[in-house]
Amino acid sequence: MPGTSPVARLRARMEGHTLRGLLVTRLADVRYLSGFSGSSAACLILPGRSLIFTDARYRLQSNAEVKGFGVRVAGGREFFPRIADECRRAGIHKLGFEPDVLTWAMHRGLGNALRGIASLIPAPPLVEKLRVVKRPEEIIVLSRLARVTDTVLWRWRGGVKEGVSEAELEGRLLAVAREEGFSEPAFRPIVAAGRHSAMPHHHAGRGKLAEGAPLLLDFGLCGGGYNSDLTRTFCWGKVTKRYRDLYTSVFEAQQAALDIIRAGIPASAVDAAARDALRAHGFERYFSHSLGHGIGLEVHEAPRLNRESGDILEAGMIITVEPGVYLEGWGGVRIEDMVLVEERGCRVLTASPKGLEDNRL
Ligand code: ZN
Ligand code: ZN
Repeated sequence: MPGTSPVARLRARMEGHTLRGLLVTRLADVRYLSGFSGSSAACLILPGRSLIFTDARYRLQSNAEVKGFGVRVAGGREFFPRIADECRRAGIHKLGFEPDVLTWAMHRGLGNALRGIASLIPAPPLVEKLRVVKRPEEIIVLSRLARVTDTVLWRWRGGVKEGVSEAELEGRLLAVAREEGFSEPAFRPIVAAGRHSAMPHHHAGRGKLAEGAPLLLDFGLCGGGYNSDLTRTFCWGKVTKRYRDLYTSVFEAQQAALDIIRAGIPASAVDAAARDALRAHGFERYFSHSLGHGIGLEVHEAPRLNRESGDILEAGMIITVEPGVYLEGWGGVRIEDMVLVEERGCRVLTASPKGLEDNRL
């Protein structure tokens, strides 16, 4: 339904689930529906009325950012009775909530306030499902973000020198990102030299570049609420046979996945294509994580690309494809790109060179 607002599409889905009231507390969902970018808010979707609750710190910001919602400033103890009051006035007897984000304390507080008015029921992931297929304007934002991410990587690698530590490399990366206008990374960068690169989520420490060893960099930028995610693995100095074998197999695994991505393909089949390619090299058992994830207002969101995923790819989804091989005591190689799913194929949004020779330092 292009051109229809997120709230209108959410209402259509709520109707399909015979849900008349929904409390949205995941901040990314709140932002998606209302445009509000602050750190404290909840949306209450009622028949014919959409409300956003925030606290007094955000009075001005919410008025400036939010469109199509009634703004209610009700922080702290006021929040629960105000929600209950709105539900009572709207004749809501069942209020849906997002079960994977509402805390136990909030559930208890709300339950008490709603006693005699409405019961709380866990809702299916309605907003999350809307967010998986990006709108044209979101595709533009994420494509631009991917391009700046490439620029940051390119500028960063120009300063990689012998003897420099992971911590210094992380500092340089954050400095370059700031110079490009991004003060906030999407997540703490993963900068892993040598053996550390065998840990998929290693954080920068004292590790240093060594001849023939990998240097893995996984980072993203956050701008306008949207996130990017990119990984490249570099080799310092001479390329050993083991490095070449690993790199080639990961490169081929990513290509095998990219080759089959298009609308209508199960996400699990894409994961399987990458694993099959690694198996042909004997490395499949060293690929310890899932192949990728959706990306947008959250770094990790639906769809999930792994063995168990029941998601089917649709045109307009933006996902990462990030196979890796990790050998304990030696190091690891991962290559990650952001990819737009299209009707008949896909478009890779991050364009940093990824051949082995391209990434020799
Ligand atoms: Zn990443
Ligand atoms: Zn990722």
